Amino acid sequence: MTDSLSQNEICSAFKDDQIYPPDLTTPDWQNLDYLGWINPSGHLAYLVVVSPDTGRLTSSTLHRAPRGSLIPRYEMCSWCPHLHGNDGTAMFTLDVKGSSGRHLIGEVLCKNLDCSLRIRDLVDPPSYMVESSYPNARIWRMQKSMYRWLKRRIVCNLVPVFQSEFT
Ligand SMILES: [Zn+2]
Repeated sequence: MTDSLSQNEICSAFKDDQIYPPDLTTPDWQNLDYLGWINPSGHLAYLVVVSPDTGRLTSSTLHRAPRGSLIPRYEMCSWCPHLHGNDGTAMFTLDVKGSSGRHLIGEVLCKNLDCSLRIRDLVDPPSYMVESSYPNARIWRMQKSMYRWLKRRIVCNLVPVFQSEFT
């Protein structure tokens, strides 16, 4: 995504949230498509990406809900798409811009937001579904899924259904 980010850059990307920035000495910046981390509480997550349109940092605060199940099952991340065993994914939701939390969009993602490393096979355990496509093609596909989802928060139709009857 970029060479590296400073703590100030990350904090200034978030406007009014009290965030807990991650340890910035550990990320492998060359292998990150985005910087994502989980709040210590576990129910919030933060995402910082460089916008492909403007080249500026874009921040998002996500709500995270575990997808625990008593029945063991496979779960696939919508971005990577890494196939996990049980309890490897979480439901992340995002407020649609301008809706004040009334409209949400959701996506099932790797629960630790480590898709960048998983798509490059840098994290254990490996996916239960082995892909034969080129790594660059997989990375491109993941970035496309991520940007498409993040753009949906802006372009979702917020016009009331019956508005045309009153105008
Ligand atoms: Zn993933």
